[in-house]
Amino acid sequence: MQSPRLSAALEAVSLAARATLAVRHGQVPMDMQTKDDKSPVTVADYAAQAVVVITLQKRLAEPLHMLGEEDAAQLRENAALRASVLAAARIALANPALTEAELVAAVDAGAHASADTSGNHWTLDPIDGTKGFLRGGQYAVCLAWIEKGEVVLGVLGCPAMAAAGDPVAVSPVGSFYAAVKGQGAWGFAANETLAQARRLHLPAWNGQSVRVAESVEAEHSAHGEQAKVMAQLGVPTTSVRLDSQCKYAVVASGRADAYLRFPTKPDRRECIWDHATGVLLVDEAGGQTSDARGAKLDFGHGKRLEKNYGIIACAAGLQGKLKI
Ligand code: AMP
Ligand code: MG
Repeated sequence: MQSPRLSAALEAVSLAARATLAVRHGQVPMDMQTKDDKSPVTVADYAAQAVVVITLQKRLAEPLHMLGEEDAAQLRENAALRASVLAAARIALANPALTEAELVAAVDAGAHASADTSGNHWTLDPIDGTKGFLRGGQYAVCLAWIEKGEVVLGVLGCPAMAAAGDPVAVSPVGSFYAAVKGQGAWGFAANETLAQARRLHLPAWNGQSVRVAESVEAEHSAHGEQAKVMAQLGVPTTSVRLDSQCKYAVVASGRADAYLRFPTKPDRRECIWDHATGVLLVDEAGGQTSDARGAKLDFGHGKRLEKNYGIIACAAGLQGKLKI
């Protein structure tokens, strides 16, 4: 499954994960800001986006088209924030010569507002689950390559989640996942290499019980509606709550049977960078993905999944039983 784009994406995500850990481990001050939509953003979010952009630009001989979550507006205004982000990016890239101007330009080169997404493009959530990151819980670095509205390559970094076993407990050794459309999905521990990666295989649902992964934040998905749909299955159910696209890796690696994300508001449309990577992981591990009403997910409408309502990612045989 090796390709220049995949190996560049793996390197980019692994260096970005290093930037987030430099912040989490206190090598760089953790400065938290609030964006216009009231969501949190940290030094680590900006550093991870810069590191991914710089790495892809260095490794790939093609112009970068990226729909990334962050932009550099706050970085331009706030010198202290800029200095901390620069420190984290320098550590991750092992490049003490990186300048503030290069840093700011890199964050903006990945910003969704300026993205040309008429053709093939990347999408990036430099830290998905920022609330989990701030809480000391799970979070993920999520990078995907989209062609004509279909995700064809995805790399997920879960710096605090083990490759096997309990996904909620924070692990000192994180994990990485990669998927290529039509070729499969793989997972490996952060202290292993891609050569040691294991193919992910999600078995069909056993019909006996259901383990569901869902968001920690009640605002992000309708826990009550999800519990109702699970209860209708008439089998014992358990719920595992964790932040970020780590949930997709939990399903793809067979640690849960489904990830449910039913909207809390009727007009809510999901951002593509919150799902592109994870959806490909589950599809390529042999699972099934759709929106909460069973419709195919369509990543070809800009920043949001405009034609879709919520998300279901699950083992084969379960999808038709979980719709709203
Ligand atoms: P999770 O960690 O799975 O709860 O999801 C984190 C993501 O939820 C963030 O990256 C946000 O983009 C997204 N988000 C923020 N507000 C909402 C909302 N009201 N409904 C659904 N997703 C949201
Ligand atoms: Mg996100």
